[in-house]
Amino acid sequence: MRMHFHVITLFPEVCKVYTDASILGRAQKTEKGKGAKHRGRKIAVSYYNPRDFTKDKHHKVDGRPYGGGPGMVMMAEPILKAWEKAVGRKKDIKKIKTLIMSPRGKIFDTQMAKSLAQKYEHIVFISGRYEGIDSRVQKILNAEAISVGEYVLTGGELPALTIIDSVSRHVHGVLGTFESLEEERVSSGEMYTRPEMFKYKKVKHGVPPVFMRGNHAEIEERKRSV
Ligand code: SAH
Repeated sequence: MRMHFHVITLFPEVCKVYTDASILGRAQKTEKGKGAKHRGRKIAVSYYNPRDFTKDKHHKVDGRPYGGGPGMVMMAEPILKAWEKAVGRKKDIKKIKTLIMSPRGKIFDTQMAKSLAQKYEHIVFISGRYEGIDSRVQKILNAEAISVGEYVLTGGELPALTIIDSVSRHVHGVLGTFESLEEERVSSGEMYTRPEMFKYKKVKHGVPPVFMRGNHAEIEERKRSV
């Protein structure tokens, strides 16, 4: 296996449905049969709920912020224990990267996805909820704060899934022969499939003839110019 994602979240069941579907789901399975090209699992995704790492009977994971302010802050200890469980015993710490999902972090992009896929074997995602995470977590784990965009979400689950999805596409063997990795290509993304012509509200919608002629150079040219 080439990449192991570890997600620390209060809502693992919400994320798991997504990572078990489609391409990510397939990449977690071993291919069987004679014709199978890439037999091993390409990725693994494990989930850790901070609630399972609490000692009190209410499984408390958040507290009021010191210094005042609205909302609740996720406590450090259950998260640190979840992290220990995920990668604490791993020896080669150079192969482990810990990312804290934060709207104030470095903005995630293709370049980062590629470099994460190349450099690491374990990526740990810490998903916040409520107002965020006790700042000591980032310092103790030497984690990097990453944002998926200049907007604020209610939790770090979608950002973690976004990054897992995008990094996976750069892990060798995850995309099949018929799926393409085209981040580097500047194209309009214009595309069509069957049928060649259909009617919608009495108006006919056809496929531009250049796509029907099958001249790839001509099609590329069109995609660049649109
Ligand atoms: N008031 C907080 C907002 C917390 S949002 C603040 O200003 O930081 C709750 C959690 O959602 C955050 O801890 C983070 O894990 C996640 N989150 C929200 N928006 C995000 C974004 N754009 N990128 C990455 N994580 C985000």
